[in-house]
Amino acid sequence: MHILSAIADQTKFYLELEEQFGAHNYHPLPVVLTRGKGVHVWDVEGKRYFDFLSGYSAVNQGHCHPEIIDSLIDQARKLTLTSRAFHSALLGEYARYITAYFGYEKVLPMNTGVEAVETAIKLCRRWGYTVKGIPENKAKILVCANNFHGRTGTVISFSSDPVSYFGFGPFMPGFEIIPFNDLNALQMALSDKNVAGFLVEPIQGEAGVVVPDEGYLKKAKQYCENASVLFIADEIQTGLGRTGKLLACDHEGVRPDILILGKALSGGTLPVSAVLADDKIMLCIRPGEHGSTYGGNPLACRVAITSLEVLKNEKMTENAHSMGELLRKRIREIDSPHICAIRGKGLLNAIVISHKNPEAAWDLCLEMKERGLLAKPTHGDKIRLAPPLIINREEIEECVFIIKDSLDILI
Ligand code: PLP
Repeated sequence: MHILSAIADQTKFYLELEEQFGAHNYHPLPVVLTRGKGVHVWDVEGKRYFDFLSGYSAVNQGHCHPEIIDSLIDQARKLTLTSRAFHSALLGEYARYITAYFGYEKVLPMNTGVEAVETAIKLCRRWGYTVKGIPENKAKILVCANNFHGRTGTVISFSSDPVSYFGFGPFMPGFEIIPFNDLNALQMALSDKNVAGFLVEPIQGEAGVVVPDEGYLKKAKQYCENASVLFIADEIQTGLGRTGKLLACDHEGVRPDILILGKALSGGTLPVSAVLADDKIMLCIRPGEHGSTYGGNPLACRVAITSLEVLKNEKMTENAHSMGELLRKRIREIDSPHICAIRGKGLLNAIVISHKNPEAAWDLCLEMKERGLLAKPTHGDKIRLAPPLIINREEIEECVFIIKDSLDILI
């Protein structure tokens, strides 16, 4: 309560408005934002912050990237939605662009990340029945413990986090949870002939930026191939330059059979997600069997092309790699007993806070907020450090000072 009472009047007004009229399904930091530009956001009191969450990696290109916003506004004036009952002049162009960009034969456009995950699951099951020959309704998809793939009924059915699934049953069958980063467990599970796919985050983001051992993804892909099982990578958070490669799977030269993208595909402007696969998989779904009113709308197509263009033209992936190295190096140099781990790749990082007070990570985030840096704890003791990919050296140095000074409050 002492924190709330210290909150300025304007902020308090908006917090109370949300509290009274909005569902209580989130627990945000007490800051009310009104403006964003590049790596910065501003609150209603006019205070500026570094954004170290980037909308959970949706804003890789930086807030309100001028070219993305120009595309958005220009296209919004021309045509925003046709539905898929008709063609638009942009869907084919976007499909050609994104498939060439990632090296696949086909794309299926959706909106939110979880819809793309649902799409990948349906596609994988359909492939399992029509190509692999799994008996009807017996298809199984392997997933990893501590996964996060979104919030729909199907997707929470294979969550191992009670906060995600408790009280929302009955659940969708057909999934088996195996430990992450455990090749033996994968190999054993793959011996079941009804397994159609293995769905995995190349780095587990929501779990606290858990990076698997080197070689895990490559071997896992190999095992899947040997067992005629589709390797499905959820790169919604890890993709699009975030980890210092275009895709996190690129670190091990792995090409997923089904690739799931979302978030930064629109640079944080509107929900745009995509599922990519080759014809032998994608064409298992035929007209009328899957879709979405907004999926592949002209506004989304136009914005996604520009979001991918600026990512490449401005070398954001390369910058994520070098700034990530610098960030981890500088944080390792901080002499604090309260950082028990720093891990990550590129600009997807987390520090793990060790403290007798279980609220320490939250308190640290409040202190960093006071000093002009926004980050949010996940699973209690982990704080993700994931700024927009356009952050520069001086800004990283400044942010490390903020983190270091804030750590001093954790006595
Ligand atoms: N998959 C991963 C790996 C994610 O990190 C998220 C969101 O954080 C999702 C899926 C769900 O995306 P959305 O919230 O857009 O539905």
